[in-house]
Amino acid sequence: MLTRTDLRSAVPSPVELRTALPRAQVDVDAVLHQVRPIVDAVRERGAEAALEFGERFDHVRPATVRVPADELPKALAGLDPAVRAGLEESIERARRVHADQRRVDTTTKVVPGGTVTERWVPVGRVGLYVPGGLAVYPSSVVMNVVPAQTAGVESLVVCSPAQAEFGGLPHPAILAAAELLGVEEVWAVGGAHGVALMTYGGLDTDGGELAPVDLVTGPGNIYVTAAKRLLRGLVGIDSEAGPTEIAVLADATADPVHVATDLISQAEHDPLAASVLVTDSVELADAVDAELAVRVKATKHSERVATALSGTQSGCVLVSSVEDGLRVVDAYAAEHLEIQTADASAVAARVRNAGAVFVGAWSPVSLGDYCAGSNHVLPTGGCARHSSGLSVQTFLRGIHVVEYTEDALRAVAGHVVALANAEDLPAHGEAVAARFEGRS
Ligand code: NAD
Repeated sequence: MLTRTDLRSAVPSPVELRTALPRAQVDVDAVLHQVRPIVDAVRERGAEAALEFGERFDHVRPATVRVPADELPKALAGLDPAVRAGLEESIERARRVHADQRRVDTTTKVVPGGTVTERWVPVGRVGLYVPGGLAVYPSSVVMNVVPAQTAGVESLVVCSPAQAEFGGLPHPAILAAAELLGVEEVWAVGGAHGVALMTYGGLDTDGGELAPVDLVTGPGNIYVTAAKRLLRGLVGIDSEAGPTEIAVLADATADPVHVATDLISQAEHDPLAASVLVTDSVELADAVDAELAVRVKATKHSERVATALSGTQSGCVLVSSVEDGLRVVDAYAAEHLEIQTADASAVAARVRNAGAVFVGAWSPVSLGDYCAGSNHVLPTGGCARHSSGLSVQTFLRGIHVVEYTEDALRAVAGHVVALANAEDLPAHGEAVAARFEGRS
């Protein structure tokens, strides 16, 4: 069932592998021309324009962008107790993990009388995008809000599309999750216009302030990603988190049921989702195909899963050893990478490129999506080669604080002047030398 790529005779170079491996072709640039007018309209006409686009794409127009405060506790009161318990567990575990990511200010005594302190300061105001198109993601509220709150961000807004089914409010599970986390500000707006409104701010339809944010984080569809790409610089953004991906590196010891169900679980997100099996065992690949043949038909979102698994972004890569498999998965740099091999911990320790690694039979990606304590907003499309998932660090800036005494500056002044002159910026050197004119 999975299309096979046979690399048993030779594994191409890492650069060749980047194009040889299956990968979703999400051409964000192709929709920039559709998104630019949306962004421009929101810059010019604020909430009015955002609500018009919401009406066009989501077929509903809430009275105000900001969700009335009493809707959050109401949504929590109506939440299924089992979902509430799951969210509470998810929040508790995520808080435990993210608390350990806090940064400590460090002061380096460079020379006697000369120090550089790195001070970690949270971003002032952040906008957390929570998708609400094909599926709703209360779990993404947790994954965005917990690191922001742990970092000490003082002001945050959760932004999620208005749902016609719920009278123009975001999905009630999203409102309930926000309430559980102590979030006070939620906007019922999504898509490219939601990202633009968070960036530019404006006045709500009732005259209330929609304050602009300094940083937008969170996953979203191609239009959300295009808006983030257009507005980057004016506002900070996290990495582009596109359609989800799973790669499974497995050998003959893996259970084909585990592998097949995990491949299906991520394919369920999106027809563009990628599920890739990398294995040195043809027997395992055959057994996984046999499981998929039965399970894909039986799963609720069968059509979406079948589309994702049969797309060019999904497949099975045959390699001659786990060693070669490691080279393949490192070149692929999956958002989620499962290691289902003998001695999985040792294999996992050698992985260099992945958003998150799930080790052994009892650590499926679904656990990480909800309740592992790890973050599920992770880099896709190979961005794990250079970026990390959301963490406390995403919401902090390190500010260097430089403090030198007169003697410490005097001791290094000659070097500063020499370097400034070498760059033909003599005024830089003069700014130092002037301080010592007439002083001994
Ligand atoms: P979404 O909220 O991102 O997008 C839906 C919104 O897009 C709608 O409300 C609509 O207003 C807007 N829209 C529709 N057509 C538009 C257009 N032509 N121009 C501008 N805006 C338009 O929800 P979604 O569609 O379900 O997408 C969520 C994505 O996020 C999926 O691809 C999913 O796989 C991904 N995801 C990724 C991660 C991760 O960490 N990488 C986590 C969760 C979800």
